[in-house]
Amino acid sequence: MNSLTATSPADQGFTPDQLELQERARTFVETVLIPLEVQAEEAGGRLAHETIEEIKREAIAARLNGGRVPTQHGGQGWSMIEWFLVGEQLGRVTGGLHWHVPSAYNVLLSGSPEQIERYLVPAVRGEGGDAYAVTEAEAGSDPDGIASSAVQSDGGWRINGEKWFVTSGDVARVLIVMANVVDGPERLPTLFLIEPGAPGVEFVDDPKFTHNYPHGHPTIRFSDVEVGPEAVIGGVGEGHRLQREWFTEERLGIATHGLGAMWRLLEDTTSWALARHQGGQRIMDYQGVSFPLADSATDAAVGRLLALQVAGMVDAGADPKLIHAKASMAKLFVSEAAGRCADRAVQIFGGRGYLRSNVAERFLRELRVDRIWEGTSEIQRLIIARALERRGVEATIH
Ligand SMILES: Cc1cc2nc3c(=O)[nH]c(=O)nc-3n(C[C@H](O)[C@H](O)[C@H](O)COP(=O)(O)OP(=O)(O)OC[C@H]3O[C@@H](n4cnc5c(N)ncnc54)[C@H](O)[C@@H]3O)c2cc1C
Repeated sequence: MNSLTATSPADQGFTPDQLELQERARTFVETVLIPLEVQAEEAGGRLAHETIEEIKREAIAARLNGGRVPTQHGGQGWSMIEWFLVGEQLGRVTGGLHWHVPSAYNVLLSGSPEQIERYLVPAVRGEGGDAYAVTEAEAGSDPDGIASSAVQSDGGWRINGEKWFVTSGDVARVLIVMANVVDGPERLPTLFLIEPGAPGVEFVDDPKFTHNYPHGHPTIRFSDVEVGPEAVIGGVGEGHRLQREWFTEERLGIATHGLGAMWRLLEDTTSWALARHQGGQRIMDYQGVSFPLADSATDAAVGRLLALQVAGMVDAGADPKLIHAKASMAKLFVSEAAGRCADRAVQIFGGRGYLRSNVAERFLRELRVDRIWEGTSEIQRLIIARALERRGVEATIH
């Protein structure tokens, strides 16, 4: 676990290699991604194919692809602290441009050698990613209520259901689909790997959302989709366990990116407040401007300590149930704090803060979803409250 025994405020006990990695990610973000932000915004989030390929090439050259994936599968084999340091830099970018950095959901690490070779390895090389489909029209906050089913057929499975909000479903090479295996009276939550071109897979809607992002979040219907036994990932009935691991990493990732967003917002807003003069003085000299900046800085610093603690707990092999609750706490705090920070930043930029070319305007829209996806803020509170009851106050808050 990161000792947090800082020798200087910035390094916080990180090793020289970790600081070099952070610097490499920062350079990539500032020289490759940030210059493309306004172009992406004006294009509704969708950059030209050649531009996306160039981003991928640069990310691979900078060794930023497949961060947590072991090196034998083409990834970087990072610790969670290292993943945090890179994710924080990637979070400084608007338009979700960091999604173009080749990577894969942690679920694929539980695949068979064949599944890893077919889906994980190419994803890390930037040759087709994945998408995770659990949410349904009638099952969002309560994923146990899903209706998607898998029944045995000819040694394999026949899948029916409809999934909503499947992020990157429009570009993924493989869909990771949660369905209940129907076994007599039992319903066994199970994850299936289904290729989007399989017969019976239909894209029924591609709605527009508040943000302009690289990929869509389509609605996908599965009608009598026949898959072989090799489509199950992690085993029949193992869906909940894999999903908890997925949620934990994704929630920590949201916190990590939110911290990067706050960092960027504070940099840009502080520079502006120092340079802008009204009424004969710097607007920074008005407490109506400087106090919201102080509040945002405090939010960012507190959130960072918490997220780093959770990352360190993962690296130290702490109890996964406790990590699950602490990741919820980090997601809840940072997503809410980042939203506040973006709102304050817009106010400090004045009319310019309402321009789409302004970083605060874009973050104000884009950070909103962090309080909804991967479990709403209310669901995170339920998880934290349950931890108070089951793991105790001391373990939950320390
Ligand atoms: C842009 C975007 C991308 C997404 N990407 C994906 C994806 O890739 N894969 C995927 O599977 N899903 C994805 N989702 C779905 C997302 O995870 C759900 O929208 C979210 O979990 C909330 O579910 P819901 O929309 O059905 O809202 P509901 O569950 O209907 O909730 C509505 C309101 O009720 C509250 N509520 C519900 N239950 C409780 C409770 N027990 N206690 C207190 N309050 C409660 C909620 O907090 C919320 O405020 C995405 C969503 C969006 C918007």
